[in-house]
Amino acid sequence: GHWRNQALSTHTKTRRVEVALGERSYNIEIGQQLLTDSSLLHALIPANQVMVVTNETIAPLYLDALVKSLGTKQVATCVLPDGEQAKRLDSMLPVFDELLANGFDRDCYLVALGGGVIGDLAGFVAATYQRGVAFVQIPTTLLAMVDSSVGGKTGVNHPCGKNMIGAFHQPKAVIADLDLLSSLPDREFRAGMAEVIKYALLGDAAFLAWLEAHLPEVFARDTEALAYIVERSCQNKAAIVQADEKEAGQRALLNLGHSFGHAIEGATGYGPWLHGEAIAAGMCMALRLSARLSWITAEECARGIALIQRAGLPIEPPSQITPETFLDFMQRDKKNRGGQLRLVLLKGLGNAVVSADYPESALLETLQEYSD
Ligand code: NAD
Ligand code: MG
Repeated sequence: GHWRNQALSTHTKTRRVEVALGERSYNIEIGQQLLTDSSLLHALIPANQVMVVTNETIAPLYLDALVKSLGTKQVATCVLPDGEQAKRLDSMLPVFDELLANGFDRDCYLVALGGGVIGDLAGFVAATYQRGVAFVQIPTTLLAMVDSSVGGKTGVNHPCGKNMIGAFHQPKAVIADLDLLSSLPDREFRAGMAEVIKYALLGDAAFLAWLEAHLPEVFARDTEALAYIVERSCQNKAAIVQADEKEAGQRALLNLGHSFGHAIEGATGYGPWLHGEAIAAGMCMALRLSARLSWITAEECARGIALIQRAGLPIEPPSQITPETFLDFMQRDKKNRGGQLRLVLLKGLGNAVVSADYPESALLETLQEYSD
């Protein structure tokens, strides 16, 4: 009847993005009600033994529903504490203990139900348990849907640095159920939007124009708009990962805003700024430096910054961070090779380049603009 058509019309169709990596290829499924779609889960998680890793914030919201839809298999669960501090080696031990206590063999699947912290940690457990088992990502944050669940980087932090211990281990599938975003706090949602805007700025001018026109729908969390930004972001990330799976070159473009952003995160002591917030300010700094070099026009620079500001994200770093502190953190960034400060900069909106070919004075002047 009538009600039924209405219900159907607000249900976005499932979209699929392929990550084509030869025998490590997989699909990203983007849609609604995927967590309770038993036949989809059964097809994508074809194992008799399944270990779900999640955290104490997400478990009460979604773990029961997932375990029910997984069906009659042998399912074990591991619920970790929430937070970036939990992304460390000793948090992996209870997961290994549970896998072994349940007699899980090499044909088991791990399922990461969570944001980037859970995805990175569970993925690294999967990379190392019995020299590598299959895993599936069920991202629950916008950042995880558009970034961390795609591309196969897994790992944990060390007291001496973020993501210092890890492995490349591609998932067998990514299941992005947009309904899970309904419980995500606004601030986390905005932080995820920083990475979405990043894809537009670095390689997708048409997407940038779309975002400028449709930002209100995105922030109203309109399902069609969410489906579109997740799909388009994943397409962009997949294309770069396919070209350079292990970051020999082009994959570094994904670090637009990240050299500056990591310095902000480091100088503020990891905590007050979310990663996406630091990256947002970092992208503005990359825009300003690119404009100073005349690689983009003043208008293009203003356009990029305006979009970031409209997304409710910071557009400058804290003024207490001195240029010296910035340079200190940026030189420590593990993405630098041979001491030369290579930055991701823009030559036109939607066209990023990795370059060390700029006068150092331009970088210094840009840093000085922000410091008091
Ligand atoms: P997160 O995993 O800490 O999640 C953010 C917060 O949201 C947490 O408190 C979490 O419990 C909560 N949360 C998650 N889903 C929720 C939901 N649906 N409803 C309510 N609350 C929810 O942070 P994140 O931003 O998703 O990920 C950051 C991590 O991702 C960092 O460790 C970073 O290094 C990593 N990362 C990895 C890659 C990669 O390529 N592997 C890329 C980018 C970032
Ligand atoms: Mg990032």
